[in-house]
Amino acid sequence: MFSDSTLVVLLATTAVTALLALVLVLSRKQTTEDASKAYLAGVRYVLSDEPDAAFAELSRAARMNTATYDTYFALAALMRRKGELAWAIRLAQNMLLKPALPRDVRRRAQLELALDYRRSGMQDRARDTFETLLSEAPEDTEALLAYRRLLEEARDWSRAVEVQERLVATSGDGQGVLAHLLCEMATVSRPTDARAARALADRAAALDPQSAHPRVEQARSALALGQRDAAQSALREALEREPELAPVTGLLLLDAGLSPAEAASWFASEAERKARAAGPFTLARAEALVRGGKAAQAVETLQALLQREPGFLEARRAVGELLLAGGPVESLRDAYRDVLRTLGDPVLAFICRACQAKFPVFSFRCPGCGAWDHLGRAPSQEFDQAAARA
Ligand SMILES: [Zn+2]
Repeated sequence: MFSDSTLVVLLATTAVTALLALVLVLSRKQTTEDASKAYLAGVRYVLSDEPDAAFAELSRAARMNTATYDTYFALAALMRRKGELAWAIRLAQNMLLKPALPRDVRRRAQLELALDYRRSGMQDRARDTFETLLSEAPEDTEALLAYRRLLEEARDWSRAVEVQERLVATSGDGQGVLAHLLCEMATVSRPTDARAARALADRAAALDPQSAHPRVEQARSALALGQRDAAQSALREALEREPELAPVTGLLLLDAGLSPAEAASWFASEAERKARAAGPFTLARAEALVRGGKAAQAVETLQALLQREPGFLEARRAVGELLLAGGPVESLRDAYRDVLRTLGDPVLAFICRACQAKFPVFSFRCPGCGAWDHLGRAPSQEFDQAAARA
């Protein structure tokens, strides 16, 4: 069932694991001979893949010398690195069954167990373990942070808010993330209770006045409540704080009562006022022009932007799509041949500073690693004009 090479690798890693565990044990000066024997027996059971027997021996060693708890954690870490998550989970479960476990050891075992459950895809068990840990140690910032990330993945925003509130109270930090979580909660409640959504967005705005996210939520809930003027001013405040929102969220200005021509001219003035954000505002302007039935003018606008910034691939993509949609006449297509050639390439204009993954649209939370406020415009991709013309 195993190929020879697989078996060799398996045996080699297991041997290294056992050796390291042994070295850890024997390097402790206070380790008695009996404890060493128990460890040796434990490691032998590890090798023969009998976790329960291994644990019994390792426990005996641990009773002889409390400092050897570290060895359990080292062993679990090795198992984890080998991909043997079930083993690491078993070790922690068994450890937690021991009566009179020192408080910090228990806490650490619970945290590692919760994280291993999460890595194994057992989200419910991970949740239960985090809840138990936090009921015993409500101010454990490491656990609060890890649990919040799990809740974010599960999109349980209301519990994530509660956990983050505790984190803020404990560490005095994290108001920015709390504001984001309140906004996510508002997004969920908006369709059924726009007033509640508005209240959540207002609270988020008070917590983090510089963030664009609460302004977007204020605008959306104002729209849901039919308050167009409030929506307009909240949208302008959102775009002031985060211009990258312009191409998508900025178009809500039309829902808030602006005509396409009014929106297009406002985007144009913003593009001029903020030279560094000219790209996203020009994209938004082009979209407003299209909605106003002025596709040809939209193409001109984008082409002018591309003359200044040839590497602005989103504009290239937008021009290409407009041409394909059949707006301008056939003869124009020849002039834009290089644009059409690049249409097949993915435009990943945003990069996460935490995980380095790239994404096509701006978002407050990284879709890859879950970090908040880490997406930014990627350095402009070199556009190879010569290759496009070839
Ligand atoms: Zn990321």
